[in-house]
Formats: sequence, structure tokens, C-alpha cells
Amino acid sequence: MKNIDKDILEHFEQIKIYRRHIHSNPEVGPEQPQTVEYVKSQFKGLEDIVITHGLEKAGLVVDILCAKKGETIAFRGDMDALNLCESSEEIHLPKKESFRSKDETKMHACGHDMHTAILIGFGQIIYKNRNKLKGKVRLLFQPGEEGYGGAKQMVDAGYLDGVKNVFALHCWPNLEVGQIGLRKGAYFASVNHFIVKVSGIGGHGASPEKASDQVLAVSAMITNLQSILSRRLSGLDQRVLSIGYVNAGNQNSTGVLPSIAKFGGTFRTFDVKVQEKIKEELKNICEYTAKTVHPSCEVEIEYTNEYPQTINNDEVVENLGNVFSEFIESNNLFKEYIPTLGAEDFSYMLQKVPGALFLLGVTPKTREESRRVFLHHPAFDPDEEALLYGVQAFKKIAFNLMS
Ligand SMILES: [Zn+2]
Ligand SMILES: [Zn+2]
Repeated sequence: MKNIDKDILEHFEQIKIYRRHIHSNPEVGPEQPQTVEYVKSQFKGLEDIVITHGLEKAGLVVDILCAKKGETIAFRGDMDALNLCESSEEIHLPKKESFRSKDETKMHACGHDMHTAILIGFGQIIYKNRNKLKGKVRLLFQPGEEGYGGAKQMVDAGYLDGVKNVFALHCWPNLEVGQIGLRKGAYFASVNHFIVKVSGIGGHGASPEKASDQVLAVSAMITNLQSILSRRLSGLDQRVLSIGYVNAGNQNSTGVLPSIAKFGGTFRTFDVKVQEKIKEELKNICEYTAKTVHPSCEVEIEYTNEYPQTINNDEVVENLGNVFSEFIESNNLFKEYIPTLGAEDFSYMLQKVPGALFLLGVTPKTREESRRVFLHHPAFDPDEEALLYGVQAFKKIAFNLMS
């Protein structure tokens, strides 16, 4: 715990309490009402703090007014969990220390419990230091990151209006505690989820000439779609396209040719042009393929949710490299860390205001390789010391921009 400020170290036990409470009470979906109430109660009664809750039960905005007039700098912490059953292995810290999820169907497996606790702790540290700073610190406690676009709702509600810069961090199991990963430009990929529905004439398996065979059409489409990646895009374009859902007919009626067949998948890219190209080619390939199977096959494509690329501002990242080097040695501070094909709705905030998302190492140096699992895993178990580095990183940013 080198180079962590005394006031943060003194607050460590309390920040752990926040993290453990949120961890054992996970909430999934577009709203996190109990988490919002819990966060709100940690700021109650403090003067010079303005609490707004424009997203009602979903999100919370806490403004901390500093001594002198100045710019508004915002920090985002997402609050939602995932639908999975948490590990009950004895070695898993939440099990060992009795703060495992109280709900067997939900778990904070993406570290958003850590993000929320870091943001509360950081807010309280800033509150104590507010006489040394100028401007306003805005804490954005964001709902529904896992597919619900909570960040976009906060942008649409106007919470980024008038904000100079916005920052966020994400727990990163591929980095060890005390390490931070920065990157200029696109850091997280865009994500598009799609469902393709093919409809036409159903019929008897014995008389395919009287039907239009939607199952054959879907099979051909799934195969042909991979040619977007191999033939329609350059080998230098980074992208992935995967089909994760197929549905048609009934397993008890395998002699029936169904009139409807569906499949769905996802594609991810780091470039808007590549993203648009895949969208266009997906439509072309599905429509043309359908017609080669039968003129009566009709195609409908529905996009269920999309996040744009998470694009960090180059100048802001350059500055973060200098600011973080005040407390992280150069061998632990990665200034050009590898991008990820994961997606983040913080992208919407970065479209509105220049800022950056950085990755916070959460894996203990001593952890054996077999237990180094990634996010969304039932045994995801971040080292709580990372809370200190998260709060310190945010504090360094605030002092750098607001002193
Ligand atoms: Zn996640
Ligand atoms: Zn996440």
C-alpha cells in the first residue's frame, strides 16, 4: 500500500464496509433502488453537498461544492450486478468473510460493487478536502450498465451538461493490485446485438418443394455471415462476430418445416466505419441468402441493444499518465495497455464530454494462475486493496484539475 494518502488509508475499513454491503445485496436490471438508498444515506446531512436524483430509483447524482468557484469534474461509478450464482468455495473471500450474495441468482461479478464503494469513499474524502479545491465534483452513481444503457439515460437527463471532464475506472482481473492500464483512443469495443427472423411457407418434410424452408435459409445465413469478416473487411480491421442463438421448429415434430426460424448474435469493433460496414453487409447477406433458398423467405433484422466504442480523449489520457505516475511506479503504469472487445456504456458519457476510462488492477500478486478468473465469473474475487488505488487515482485527478 505504497504511496496511498493517509486520509484514504484511515478510511479503508469504512470503504470495505460499503463494498461488502453492496456485494451482499446485488441488484440487476435498469434500476438499483436499494443501492441508491444506501449510497444516499452515506452523504446525508453533509452541508455543501447537493443530492439530486433525477433518475428516481435508478440513478443518483451527488454534487460536492468546493470552496471556490470553478469547473465541474464528474466521476462515474456503475452499480448493477449480474444474473449468476456466486461461488461458495471456502477460498472465495465473500464466502470466507460472510458477505457472499444474499441472492443465489444474482452476483456482483463485474466489480461494480467496488466501483460504487470507491465512488462513495472518494466523495467523502473530497468532502473533507473541499476547502482546498475549486469547482464542483459530480459523482454519477449510474444504474444499468450491463445492457440497459444507464449511462445514456444519465446523459439524456442532462447530468453531463456543463461538465468539463468525466472519468471512470473498471476493475480489471488481468492486472494486479497496484497496476493501472491507460489507453488513448478506442479502449473498449462497440457492441451490437441482433436477432434475424426468417419467415415464409411452412410445410411437410416430405414435400419441401411446397415450402420455403426457413431452417435451410438460416443455416446458410449463419455460414455466409462469417464471410463479412474474412472477405468484406480488411485483415487489419479488428472485429468479431458470433452467433449465440438459434431457434426453429419443435423437437417433437422433426418432420415439420417451420414457417419461422430465428437466430441472433453479436458483433464488436473499435471503429465506427467497420461497425456500419458490418451492419450493412449483415443485411445484404441475410436478404440475398434468403432469396437463394426460396423467393418466399422474408428477413427481418432487429437490433436489441448497442453500445458505441469507448473512446478516451488523447490529451486527457496523456495527463493521467503524468498524474498517476505520482503514486504508481512506471513498471506498474501501462500507458498503452491492450484494448478489449468488451463494451462499456461509459462510451455515451465520453461522446458528450472529454474524459477517460482506465483499468484498475484487482488481482493479488500472490494468487495462483488457476484462480485468476475474469469478470462475469462466479469466482471473481477482487482484492479489496484495489479500493485504495481506485480512491487514490480519483483523488489525484481531482487535485490535479481543481487545485
Ligand atoms: Zn460486466
Ligand atoms: Zn462492468
